[in-house]
Amino acid sequence: MDTILNLLLQLQELDFQIENIRKQLKELPSKIEHLKQKKEELLFSLDKIKTQINHLEAEKREKELEIQDLEDKIKKIEEKLLKVKTNDDYKALLREKAKAEEKIMEIEDEILNLMEKIEVLKQEEKTADEEYKNKVAILEKEINEKENELKTLEENLKNLEKQRQELANSIDNSFLKRYEMVKTKKGLPVIAVINSDTCSGCFMVIPPRLYNEIVKGKNLTNCPHCGRFLLYIPS
Ligand SMILES: [Zn+2]
Repeated sequence: MDTILNLLLQLQELDFQIENIRKQLKELPSKIEHLKQKKEELLFSLDKIKTQINHLEAEKREKELEIQDLEDKIKKIEEKLLKVKTNDDYKALLREKAKAEEKIMEIEDEILNLMEKIEVLKQEEKTADEEYKNKVAILEKEINEKENELKTLEENLKNLEKQRQELANSIDNSFLKRYEMVKTKKGLPVIAVINSDTCSGCFMVIPPRLYNEIVKGKNLTNCPHCGRFLLYIPS
């Protein structure tokens, strides 16, 4: 095989690998970000339950204090009842006491209600906590793997670019320039295999005279339509 063509094929192979790595490097960070977001969401839903429990417990404590106040009030009423002078005052104090007792019962019902809600939420919290631990472990493993992959790809890219530079230095400048020009204009592949009499890069038919020259193994030729280097593989 033509030496220059051989070198250009090696260059193209490196370019394919570099292109592939660059594509992965472009996609990986958003994949990692997505996994991190999923982790945040899990933590958020767990925190949401914890916050709800805290609110309900605070509400419960408030109601317990209310009961405490009412009980103090009842005690004071009972003291007054011992010293009361008139029947009307006595009745009024009893009504006040009954009202306070009724209110206590109401609040106790509300506390029971709150305790039931807290119980349900604590069960939910337990389930969410287990789910969080399981899923987070998996997510963290995935994040770790992807971050390592990213590092490896970056190293590979550096090595490939170095190899490419060395190879490019060994290629005749006029061919290299043409190669780079086609690569910029058309993208990979720069070297197109001839299928029957068609350029596999642009799918145009190669003029018969040129085709015959290529078959005879004359100089390295470019497709007159797309400019790609043409590679003829005898069958
Ligand atoms: Zn072509």
